[in-house]
Amino acid sequence: MLVDAHAHLDSYADRDEVIARARAAGLVHVVLVGQWREGRGMAGALDAVALAREDRSFFSATAGIHPHDAEQASEADFAELRRICQDADVVAVGEAGLDFHYDHSPREVQKEAFARQVRLARELRKPLVVHTREADAETAGILERELGPDGGVIHCFTSDWTAAQRYLALGMYLSFSGVITFRNADAVRDAAARAPLDRILVETDCPFLAPVPHRGKRNEPAWVAATAQALASLRGMPADELGRVTTENARRCLRLPAGSP
Ligand SMILES: [Zn+2]
Ligand SMILES: [Zn+2]
Repeated sequence: MLVDAHAHLDSYADRDEVIARARAAGLVHVVLVGQWREGRGMAGALDAVALAREDRSFFSATAGIHPHDAEQASEADFAELRRICQDADVVAVGEAGLDFHYDHSPREVQKEAFARQVRLARELRKPLVVHTREADAETAGILERELGPDGGVIHCFTSDWTAAQRYLALGMYLSFSGVITFRNADAVRDAAARAPLDRILVETDCPFLAPVPHRGKRNEPAWVAATAQALASLRGMPADELGRVTTENARRCLRLPAGSP
């Protein structure tokens, strides 16, 4: 039993096959992250919502404006984001956050777009999906000022235990991706081994970040199993137990439907 807590499926021409493989691999739910994209606006997010409506027991949708796109998104886009996030089939706001590794948008613009979406989540009483890279101090600072009572998740957590503790103190969950299978990720593995068992999730962030042994290929939800296996062995527990606990955590954090036992 596994949940892929963060997947982008809007670019797959063979999506039906990808979904069939996810079900065959034992996934019970996939969180579809919808985001603004250049030339398409919020169409990808609307697509995620439509897919979630087709099968609510297996899919949920989120909608957000990624820090990469913070500068390009217009006021009309933010207004549309607000409308989409009010939909009952949108479980969370995001991904939103700060990315100071790529700096595709100026940092001040990223901070403003992030703070707006943290406030939107607070206002709508929904959890938040956070993207943060090389920006822990600023990300945690904004969350400490603006985060609402519904918390959320640091997706694709790639920092260290010190940063993890600051997010955990805010009530956030930490979601681990294929990065924990990469050779140069000792600090991330350390945090993954030490985080409280009731605060960890697994995700693919597909189509990127395929876990070993698939590294370098286009990622897909079925491969969250490799990440869950790696996380289980880091924590010295059976993979099926890790799957059960992270499924429960994802359902609690993102208020996913309970699903069949
Ligand atoms: Zn991200
Ligand atoms: Zn993502």
